Order: sequence, then C-alpha cells, then structure tokens
Amino acid sequence: MNDQRRYYKVHELSRVSSAACKGCGECCRGMGDTIVLDPYDAYQLSYGLNKPFGGLIGESVELHVENGILLPHLAMTEKTESCAYLDKDGTCRIHAFRPGICRLYPLAREFREHEILYFLLPDPCPVSGRSKVRIDRYLGIPDIDQYESFKLLWHAFIKEMEALAVRIEDNNEELQKLSLFLLETFYLKPFDDEFYSVISRRIKRVRKYLQV
Ligand code: SF4
Ligand code: SF4
Repeated sequence: MNDQRRYYKVHELSRVSSAACKGCGECCRGMGDTIVLDPYDAYQLSYGLNKPFGGLIGESVELHVENGILLPHLAMTEKTESCAYLDKDGTCRIHAFRPGICRLYPLAREFREHEILYFLLPDPCPVSGRSKVRIDRYLGIPDIDQYESFKLLWHAFIKEMEALAVRIEDNNEELQKLSLFLLETFYLKPFDDEFYSVISRRIKRVRKYLQV
C-alpha cells in the first residue's frame, strides 16, 4: 500500500471525466498482456459479440500464465501493438461492453479484505483538467455493488487458486489440468442464467471439489 496515494471508494467523486478525450487511442496500445479478463468480461464480450468466448481465443483474446494460473487477456496486434478492437479513428469497437480494466482508465484498483479502493494512475494521457465524476457513474457498470462483490469474490478465489498452483508446481500435469479446468468452468462454459448467481454457485462448487 502506498500511503501517499489518494484512495477513493466507488461512490465517491474523482477526476476521471473523459469528456476531453482526444481519441488518440494511446491508452489502447502497447498494453501487452495486462488487459486481463475476468469471467464477467468474458460473459459481456461473448454476449455483446454474439459469439462463444472460446471462439475469440486466438483472434482478439490470448492466454497467459499468471502466478501458475492460465488467464485470458485482450490481444495486441503484432504490427501496431494496438488492441484488436481499436478502430483506425481511435475509437473502441466494443465500447458498450468493453472489459473492466478499460472502463477503469485512468483509475486502477486495490483489493482490501472487504472493499475495493480506487486510485488515479500516474496519467500518460494528454487530456488535462479532467473534471470530477462519481466513479460508479464513470464505470457505467449496472448493479455496481453486486459487481464489486463479485470482484472481491473472484480476487479471493484466484488467490486461492494461485496458492494451490504453488502447492502442485512440481507436478506439471496436475497444474495444466487445474488451469484447463478453471478456464473451462469460468470462461468457456456459457452463463445461460443470471451471471452473478451462476458464478458464485460455480465458485462454491469448485472450492468444495478442490477442497480449498
Ligand atoms: S490516451 Fe487519453 S486522449 Fe488518448 S484515447 Fe486514451 S483517454 Fe483519450
Ligand atoms: S477494448 Fe476498447 S477500450 Fe479496451 S483496449 Fe481495446 S479498444 Fe481500448
């Protein structure tokens, strides 16, 4: 934790307004594998593009290993290092259902035991004089309290899975099986019902199955 940093809660005001955005697209370039997708992002992408999430892997989505666990991220094009969804005019082709990390910019978040705190990134963006907006309105995610509960649950669950990965790190086959099982259960299997109740049921079942 950085004590110099000013932290905000989701219903507070912060200088995040993108009203003066110049559409240069710089915040959508050179991101490597950092736009990591959670199951809600995957669900939104699949729904918005009307395509199974698995069909996006290898196109606009790639996989990487983070602390022993296989996770999906938005792919950058080889030539220009731009997000696959960035249009030539600097606009986002999936703006309405873009991932949570994209919605956050120029904020980032820190997970505490029972809450999420937001802070402003040292901003490389040429937009100056951002005005204040309530963070929940800026994010534009419906049922923000439910979304934050999901994010806390998912964050804690991924930490448990990383700890499990450390325990089995000498067994490559087991590690691979775990990663593929998590990918299948939380990303590839469709969410036909209400997302939040389905994901918490799945997490509960997997915790019981893996005895974590
Ligand atoms: S870097 Fe700033 S000005 Fe450029 S697209 Fe992103 S938010 Fe807009
Ligand atoms: S999904 Fe949209 S907002 Fe996010 S990096 Fe790609 S183009 Fe930018």
